[in-house]
Amino acid sequence: MRALRWHGKQDIRYDTVADPIIEHPRDAIIKVSACAICGSDLHLFDGFMPGMKSGDIVGHEFMGEVVEVGKENHALRVGERVVIPFTIFCGECEQCKRGNFSVCERTNRNKDAAAKVFGHTTAGLFGYTQLTGGYPGGQAEYVRVPFADTTHVKVPDGLTDEQVLFLGDILPTGWQAAVQCDIEPTDTVAIWGAGPVGQMTIRSAILLGARQVIAIDRVPERLAMAQAGGAIPLNFDEESILDRLNELTAGKGPEKCVDAVGMESHATRSIDAVYDRVKQAVMLESDRPHVLREMIYVCRPGGTLSIPGVYGGLVDKIPFGASMNKGLTWRMGQTHVKRWTDDLLNRIVQGQIDPSFVITHTVGLEKGPEMYETFRDKKDGCIKVVLKPSFS
Ligand code: NAD
Ligand code: ZN
Ligand code: ZN
Repeated sequence: MRALRWHGKQDIRYDTVADPIIEHPRDAIIKVSACAICGSDLHLFDGFMPGMKSGDIVGHEFMGEVVEVGKENHALRVGERVVIPFTIFCGECEQCKRGNFSVCERTNRNKDAAAKVFGHTTAGLFGYTQLTGGYPGGQAEYVRVPFADTTHVKVPDGLTDEQVLFLGDILPTGWQAAVQCDIEPTDTVAIWGAGPVGQMTIRSAILLGARQVIAIDRVPERLAMAQAGGAIPLNFDEESILDRLNELTAGKGPEKCVDAVGMESHATRSIDAVYDRVKQAVMLESDRPHVLREMIYVCRPGGTLSIPGVYGGLVDKIPFGASMNKGLTWRMGQTHVKRWTDDLLNRIVQGQIDPSFVITHTVGLEKGPEMYETFRDKKDGCIKVVLKPSFS
């Protein structure tokens, strides 16, 4: 089959590889009909996430048709259409029973390596480093889905791939980011990053009843999309984010702040951006926490920071004293995808949410390598890329 593989920094190739096979009786093999490039894939592309091996198949946002089912998998049948959550979960361990699927204790087959780095294991993820199991990803014609009897969302008839594909990642991610804010009707929610995750967070925060939602980015078409979704856009290249956020909240600061940027944040107006870039370049720091610093500083005392943005290792110069003395609550994590998908699928069926608005590019899988660059560099108005193995 053909698949997109990581061969090093900024080196994704469309390769021919062996077809996946059933390795465990709970597995299923999925023929991919659509997959997407996620902002998290950019951290791999840019070489910031440790633990990738040359030849790893990438991609963790995908869906398709079941073509083969393992003997003990009684939940799926050949021919069914499914979206696959990017967090692989067993459904039986203590964490899964609590709904903490992204920290499932059983699905990471490289548990010991993960525990060495993080203190404990986290769930297995598709196409996302050896630390999360080294599982081949979904930017491919076929995928082996481990724990497939639990790790799937069945798609009801009548919905297009575009309507449901993002149930596997960015829709529940934006939703979880907003839910973690415990939004009250008087709240201002400020969201850093108007990429695909930020866009889903904006719409979720509005659905959950926020008084005011503010979106921060510097890419005009992303800010325009944020505004169309009901947010007040702020451009961090053109205005001081801290001043503007204080202005829009009568000097109080937003009650809820969301980091939908993560480890590769840019900051053209501030000195700490230079500091982070230098430290990251000489490997003294793995992540650039500029957005975290801004959120801690501007958040209203007693407020909440919600962090869907991905961090991989160490951050430096975090004003922890400010956070402690202001009594801020931190919520974060890889998304517990399956915790939210029943509700979100219902909302899609009822027409309350249609996440397909975010798609700007739909192309064949073979164009994947160039689309990584287009997406990263925001060329050609790119906000979200969908890849289809059989696109003609
Ligand atoms: P993206 O790269 O398209 O979006 C990031 C956006 O942040 C860009 O539009 C960029 O211009 C903007 N940005 C950069 N610096 C900024 C700053 N200082 N202030 C405000 N905006 C800034 O990616 P995405 O797909 O939207 O993903 C966003 C983040 O969410 C990534 O870190 C990704 O890894 C993470 N993510 C996490 C989960 C999870 O389970 N927690 C799931 C999906 C994605
Ligand atoms: Zn993702
Ligand atoms: Zn589990």
